[in-house]
Amino acid sequence: ASYVLSHFPHPDSADSHVALIDSATGHRLTYFQIYVSTRSLAVGLARALGVQKGDVVLLLSPNSLLYPTVCLAVLSVGAVLTTANPLCTASEVARQARDARAKLAITAAEEVHKLAATGVPTLLMARDGSGSLSVEELIEECDPCEAPEVRMTRSDTAALLYSSGTTGVSKGVVLTHANLIAIVTLLRWSCDVTGSRGDVYLGFLPMFHIYGLAFFALGLFCAGATTVVMPRFDFQAALRAIERYQVTVLPAVPPVILGLVKTTGCDLSMLRQVGSGAAPLSRELAMEFRRKYPWVELRQGYGLTESSGAATFFVSSRDSKERPGSVGQLIPETCARIVDVETGGCLPPGREGELWLKGPTVMSRYLGNEETTAATIVSDGWLRTGDLAYIDRDGFVYIVDRIKELIKHNGFQTVTNISLNAYLKVAPAELEAILLGHPQIRDATVIPIEDEKAGQIPMAYIVRADNEEITEDQIIKYVAKQVAPYKKVRKVEFIDVIPRSAAGKILRKQLVVKNQQPTS
Ligand code: ATP
Repeated sequence: ASYVLSHFPHPDSADSHVALIDSATGHRLTYFQIYVSTRSLAVGLARALGVQKGDVVLLLSPNSLLYPTVCLAVLSVGAVLTTANPLCTASEVARQARDARAKLAITAAEEVHKLAATGVPTLLMARDGSGSLSVEELIEECDPCEAPEVRMTRSDTAALLYSSGTTGVSKGVVLTHANLIAIVTLLRWSCDVTGSRGDVYLGFLPMFHIYGLAFFALGLFCAGATTVVMPRFDFQAALRAIERYQVTVLPAVPPVILGLVKTTGCDLSMLRQVGSGAAPLSRELAMEFRRKYPWVELRQGYGLTESSGAATFFVSSRDSKERPGSVGQLIPETCARIVDVETGGCLPPGREGELWLKGPTVMSRYLGNEETTAATIVSDGWLRTGDLAYIDRDGFVYIVDRIKELIKHNGFQTVTNISLNAYLKVAPAELEAILLGHPQIRDATVIPIEDEKAGQIPMAYIVRADNEEITEDQIIKYVAKQVAPYKKVRKVEFIDVIPRSAAGKILRKQLVVKNQQPTS
């Protein structure tokens, strides 16, 4: 059996505890049903489709009750799981299939056309009446007792996940069974649901991304929790699901926290914990959330695909309350360094620099990209995160922003009497937090624009709150009152929606490109 599978609670036939609930239909699967289905599907993959150890299986589907079963079955035959974003176009999916050398694709019927040109054999998730073979049929037809025994080691590749591509082209991150075991062990320990089994999680984060995959497709099984699965994120549907299924824990992303702060008229009295990760959550927004929902613990965590999704989190709710702006402490067995971006030297507590990580969740390499691997995993296994951060004396980590996305303002031009031999750097996240604090602004982001004198200057894209008429000039003045002169927002444009990835990250590069296009 797979290394990861062997870390799951072994459900005996009496175990009728509900693992998954479909948010729309209310259909439920117990731990025992999933365990049996996983074994049956493993038989089908190995015997009917010839999937062998080391073969790559691409999974292209929105969240569904079958998603975790497919992930576990792929891992249990020793194959390598690569998950694709259902929002990707056919050519993006084809690129991933080619890059990963997929031998088989498992896909939702509505996505199957995206694989047509790749020549990769496909297996549908559910029957669609066309006669094509499906996961559902394999589960029904194969005998779970014949599940193959595959010999594996901790260093075998388990998953090939693609980074979000927020700052550039998305990269294939190679994760081993040891990486996944580390992450599921951590979640089992930190979720603390094994004993009481009382928690109900809402699973709307996409399971193709490491955050959703680690939590919903892998981690929560180990913890024995119940998860309400939503195929895709829809804020109003999420609110209804929280009420209908008495959801107690909501792993989320900052735009959802913002939505909860701005929403009215829903009953969230049963929520006990909300998590925030994947993108910066400002102190102000966290404070507003706590004021509005004082009974809910708000806990931030931080991680990257390259660290199997987690690197820091809060163990205690008191710490989380008392350290606004922090993403928590390092996960067990993981160490960190803050490194001076210019000199490469290690910095003491409180100083900002690049965050480096080392520990059991750190990836083995990027697929087929030795140069980037060598630039990212350096000196004895340290992972360069590309994030600007500082750590306080008690070991709490604070993420400032992505180094690549800092706005580089030439300090000589505008700041007098200060001797500077480098650019002054402006973190978009700091300005976004200020903008979001304005009652007439619903959403905001900040990007760099080129400036002849200053190098780069901040420009804001703003979504006005309903029926508000705030002007560019008012926004510029509002920010200017709160920041040093070089950080001032110099230009504002109003848009309907800030582009974000499925994992809730602001896609600034789309706005940078938009801004560079000549206006007609
Ligand atoms: P690419 O590397 O392809 O540009 P990506 O870095 O967005 O994509 P992910 O692995 O999904 O790919 O994201 C990891 C990044 O998300 C981190 O490096 C960090 O910048 C950001 N991040 C994650 N959690 C937090 C958090 N709690 N606060 C601030 N930023 C976060």
